[in-house]
Amino acid sequence: MADRLHFGGVSGRTVVGAASRFGTPLYLYDEAFIREKCREISGMPNAFGLEPRYAMKANSGRAVLQLIHSEGLGIDASSLNEARRAHAAGIPLGSIMLTTQEVPRGADRADLERMMAAGMRYNVCSLLQLELVADFAARKKLPLSIRIHPGQGAGESATRNTGDKYSCFGVHLADLPGALSMAGDRGIVFDAVHVHIGSGGDPEKWRENVDREIAFLEEHLPQAERINFGGGLRTARMPDETSADVGALGAYAKRRLEELHTRTGRKIVMEVEPGTYVMANAGYLVTTVIDVKATGPDGFQFLVCDGGMEVNARPLLYGSRHPFYVVRKDGTVASSEFDSGGLDRARDLRVVVGRCCESGDSQSLDEEGHIVPRLIAEASAGDFLVVGGCGAYCSSMTPFAYNSHTQAPELLLRLDGRLDAIRRPQTLRQMTANEEGLRN
Ligand SMILES: *Cc1c(COP(=O)(O)O)cnc(C)c1O
Repeated sequence: MADRLHFGGVSGRTVVGAASRFGTPLYLYDEAFIREKCREISGMPNAFGLEPRYAMKANSGRAVLQLIHSEGLGIDASSLNEARRAHAAGIPLGSIMLTTQEVPRGADRADLERMMAAGMRYNVCSLLQLELVADFAARKKLPLSIRIHPGQGAGESATRNTGDKYSCFGVHLADLPGALSMAGDRGIVFDAVHVHIGSGGDPEKWRENVDREIAFLEEHLPQAERINFGGGLRTARMPDETSADVGALGAYAKRRLEELHTRTGRKIVMEVEPGTYVMANAGYLVTTVIDVKATGPDGFQFLVCDGGMEVNARPLLYGSRHPFYVVRKDGTVASSEFDSGGLDRARDLRVVVGRCCESGDSQSLDEEGHIVPRLIAEASAGDFLVVGGCGAYCSSMTPFAYNSHTQAPELLLRLDGRLDAIRRPQTLRQMTANEEGLRN
């Protein structure tokens, strides 16, 4: 079996080295792999320019943002706090766009205005949002982007489809005339159109969205100079999955934008906003097997690990599958989802669970939340169980305080092989710092 884990340059020895720093669980990211993915995105074919932004909700750590920005990607922020974090990481406001469900109020509103005046782009997602930002934008002559709800979407699961009638992101097509007339009355210019149909859907749906969105732009948005096709680029975490071919998707959009140019003379800049594609396979969750149990002759074999739903909630939330590796204490990779040679279905079907008091705290579930055993080598307490595909929507999306587990540290494998801590482990004191005891 190879010494390396499947994606990037992380080896069994890297895993052991990382665990010896802070113990487990921990997240381990691979700088070279992140850079490679950023370059694939920046290298997407385009007709009249490409502006990629990284959807930072996928992984919002400071060093990660700095790394991705150093590769020339801007930031798609989904809340004012995300935009603040990106700016605090040194990313200029002019490279950030805010796409959010809430228009900041109160003291936050002043910050929003200050940040917009300094170059942060605002993507209008509803009629009320337009109402709330219109006067300010008009007074400052700031063009806005408009997110259109196309009525159709695609995602890896129902909860990750953001474009159909079951989700409410963006100004629905039916409300577009109202939005355009309000914008006209207030002197607002929409210089960009945005559609994000969901995460990890069929690349064919992404192509269909390109066509649909170009039609919106042509029909309704005469002043738009930019078109944002969102994120959602499908990313294979498991051996039986396939990633979107971003080169082919770029080539498709390029051709369509060139045709638009031939028809209308308009030269439109293309924008994309990947989160998953950049980060998912750049990250590993390293846990330690703390117990091995079985549930009788017709039951299952369980590997109980010191990290589960509180460090990777995706299996429980979406039935997402992540690849498993067993790494021995000496760094030997004893089992990999990408090389099941030597494993036997009669003997080696196992279930990976966490340590929370919650029967759904498993890393191997289907969409209905049922346990799905997987081919994994025998492991004993003290071995490492490493979960792949954990760079996106794991650290940034965990219920880590559940069962009072502290937030896990994050390490970055640098280009020169060094392991840098990019987030220290949270302490119990930090977890409870804002609590007040009962007063008499
Ligand atoms: C979450 C999100 C993205 C990124 O989606 P991925 O599937 O992670 O690429 C892009 N744009 C918007 C508006 C989002 O909400």
